[in-house]
Amino acid sequence: MLNSLFQKKNICFICNSSVTSFICSRCSERMVFYQNLRGRCSFKKWDLHFTAPYHQGYKRLIWDLKFGKNTGLAKGMAYLMLECYLKNIDRLPDLVDYVPMGRIKEKQRGFNQSKILAEEIGKLINRNIGNLTKREDQVSLYRNRKVDREVLVKDTMCAKSGDVNKSILIIDDVYTTGATIRETMRALRVKGFEKVSFLIFARQEKQENLENWFS
Ligand SMILES: [Zn+2]
Repeated sequence: MLNSLFQKKNICFICNSSVTSFICSRCSERMVFYQNLRGRCSFKKWDLHFTAPYHQGYKRLIWDLKFGKNTGLAKGMAYLMLECYLKNIDRLPDLVDYVPMGRIKEKQRGFNQSKILAEEIGKLINRNIGNLTKREDQVSLYRNRKVDREVLVKDTMCAKSGDVNKSILIIDDVYTTGATIRETMRALRVKGFEKVSFLIFARQEKQENLENWFS
């Protein structure tokens, strides 16, 4: 059944080795190992769930989705994200949402990869998308390496009012410094939301950690 979720059959989604299931046993073991280390952490009592390191096959998936515009990958990625998330929670969120992109940036790319992941996750757990937050376009983070990312991102988001008693799960593709997540938290807090958690596909790690864990 799971194989029908994926475009290429009989190939590990992560390392491309030929297997009978969508993810090979080696990648699956590594993922469990990583999730034991980094799977869940809390920031101001709002949980962050991480599916994988931003590394090797996981990094490639993000690139193919984002820049290769291979949006067909989102379903499989959503499945991996949920598998990690469901191990750590007692009850499902009421709403699924995503980290927004600026309007101009989204128009240039043609889509927001976090929104696509959120939609796939929403379908799998039968939850609606909240569309609670908006973001202003900002100066490219890459062209401003010298400027603190935190400063660039600060006050670029705002949230709509909504039922603050609902629990919301926010989806994002990559966690780098956490500045964007903190800004999303700020926007939601301002509107009084209290039950918010985050599910992120990949987390950037220090090279030395990656070498220790995955060599
Ligand atoms: Zn594999």
